[in-house]
Parts: sequence; C-alpha cells; structure tokens
Amino acid sequence: ERVKEAADIVEIVSAYTDLQQRGQDYWGNCPFHDERTPSFKVNPRDKLYYCFGCEASGDVFRFVEEKEGLDFPQAVESLAERYGVELERESEDPRAEEKRRRRARLWELLERTAKFYERYLWESPKADRARAYLAQRGLGEEVLRRFGVGMAPSPWDQVLTGSQRAGFKVEELLAAGLTQKGRQGGHYDRFRNRITFPIRDQRGRVLGFGARALSRDEQP
Ligand code: ZN
Repeated sequence: ERVKEAADIVEIVSAYTDLQQRGQDYWGNCPFHDERTPSFKVNPRDKLYYCFGCEASGDVFRFVEEKEGLDFPQAVESLAERYGVELERESEDPRAEEKRRRRARLWELLERTAKFYERYLWESPKADRARAYLAQRGLGEEVLRRFGVGMAPSPWDQVLTGSQRAGFKVEELLAAGLTQKGRQGGHYDRFRNRITFPIRDQRGRVLGFGARALSRDEQP
C-alpha cells in the first residue's frame, strides 16, 4: 500500500504512451494493443488502468509486471526503489535471499567496473587514441559522460585483478561476464582495448557492456 501510494501511475504509463487529461482521468493509445484512437484509460487516484479495446486492465503493479516483464515482488521492489519507499522483508525463503544477495553483488561489480572504464577513458594517457577517435566521430565529452562511455585497457587482467583486490571472486567475475576462461586454464578480461558502453536496465543498474574494438584486426 505504501509503494502504491507513492507511485505515480501517470508518469509510469507515460513512458509507454502519451496521455492526455480528460476530467479526472487520463487517456492515451493503448500500450498493449495497436490502435490509432485512444481507448486506454488511466485512473490516477486508484492507480488503475483499463483498455476499452483489448480489455487489458490492472493496477500500477500489474502494469509494471506486464510492461517490464517482472513478477509481483520484483514490481514492488522496482517501484519502491523508484519512488523512495523502504521495504522491510519479514521472512524470505533462504534460497531467494541468497539469490537476491548474489544479484546485488553482481550489480555492484558491474557498476564498479563501469566507473573504472569511465575513469580510464578520461584519465589514462593510454586512452588518448580512444578519446581522439570519439571526438572524430563527433561525440562531445558531455554526451559521453552522460552515457557513461569508457574504455577497457589493453592488458589481460586489469579488471580481474582490480576486482579481486576489492574482494570479488573469479566466479563472480565470470557470472557477470567480465572475464572468461583461458584455453590453457586461468582467466582473463573479456573487454580489452575497447571503448565500452554500459547497458543499463530501467532502474539504472549496469547489466553489462557493449564495446567497440579499436584495433583493425579485432572483431566487434
Ligand atoms: Zn488495449
């Protein structure tokens, strides 16, 4: 109830369709079926939606579940985080708790790595070429910083050793997709000598990276 109270359903739905206020309700083209005239109604007081065309309906949680592919607890968590509501967990299945903790660790690892790549791009003398390349592609510092563009250094193990020093295990680095197993055993960084682009979810968490090779003989 507290999460529901805090959530702004008009703002949430507006990410998917343009809404116009009519009386106390808002109307727009349905985000669940294809149409040209609005039959999708949002009631901001009760935080409900209904489509007179395809009969999609539900509350703010249901909407987030449907559009963001989440289950109910995840939808509650997502909205709680977005609207600043603290959740208390009374009892949690230990396995679910373990899973949640593990995911949180991987997000932390990815976030940390994104910051490292970003710092490397702006501060390392070895990133001169990457900066020149980006400038030549017409990308200014402001937009690069806004999107968290960075650079992965050339050595084989910079992220690996840096993350290990910060307390992360090799197994976590593998799970996050940041390192891979070498053919002769051992592990090495997946991204090397590449411009990196963090891929974030709707909650702003880094889930992974896209990366552009800088040497001609390397694959995208
Ligand atoms: Zn519809």
